[in-house]
Amino acid sequence: MNKKMIVAIDGPSGAGKSTLSKALAQKLDYLNIDTGAMYRSVALLAQQQDIDLHDGDKLKKLCIDLSIEFVREGVSERVLVNGVDVSAEIRTPEVSLLTAQVATCPAVRDAMLQLQREMGESGGVVLEGRDIGTVVFPRADVKFFLSATAEERGRRRYEELLARGVTVDLQQTIQEVETRDAADTARSLAPLMQADDALVIDSTHLSIEDVLKEMFTIVKNREAELA
Ligand code: C5P
Repeated sequence: MNKKMIVAIDGPSGAGKSTLSKALAQKLDYLNIDTGAMYRSVALLAQQQDIDLHDGDKLKKLCIDLSIEFVREGVSERVLVNGVDVSAEIRTPEVSLLTAQVATCPAVRDAMLQLQREMGESGGVVLEGRDIGTVVFPRADVKFFLSATAEERGRRRYEELLARGVTVDLQQTIQEVETRDAADTARSLAPLMQADDALVIDSTHLSIEDVLKEMFTIVKNREAELA
């Protein structure tokens, strides 16, 4: 039987990680773990409970007994937090910005790191985020780093939000994507960073289908190497 591998996908916002990670996991029949959705869920709960994002103790308490589940429904995926479907609420531009702040809190990162390792350690997973190949699973079997120009990433995020019925401005969306990436790259704890052994794919001029094909071939070749 083929080894159930750990596949890491890192990169900045709007590089296509979510779509590709989901599609790749389905093609491989692996579990897809959207680690951004986990940080977003903490930010949403903090917002709902009116928690000051600088209050590490309160954020730490919030993460105790926190349950986050990913439920696949056909081609879409739902995120359940403590049993409640938050899939739409965690994707608003406001929650995106709060998330980048929450993600700097050491207690939150510790809690998410533990959850992610528990979910992924037995393999058969695709994890997407910012620090998967560098911190969460530095010994992942395959590591990808997806990139694209800020303009293109902002445009993709803009279209994604429009499709969901969220009205936003294109220039503002590009700016928000850049602000968030700057914060994710500059933070001292587990910053957005390319692992030395990651395969870099610039998707600016590539279709999702082309990138998916390339990633799938790389994973399958690795699987054969490890067999
Ligand atoms: O990937 P997504 O845009 O949903 O991530 C939202 C935010 O969560 C990022 O901007 C980042 O601040 C944080 N994040 C993180 N580490 C991860 C995944 C996401 O800090 N592994």
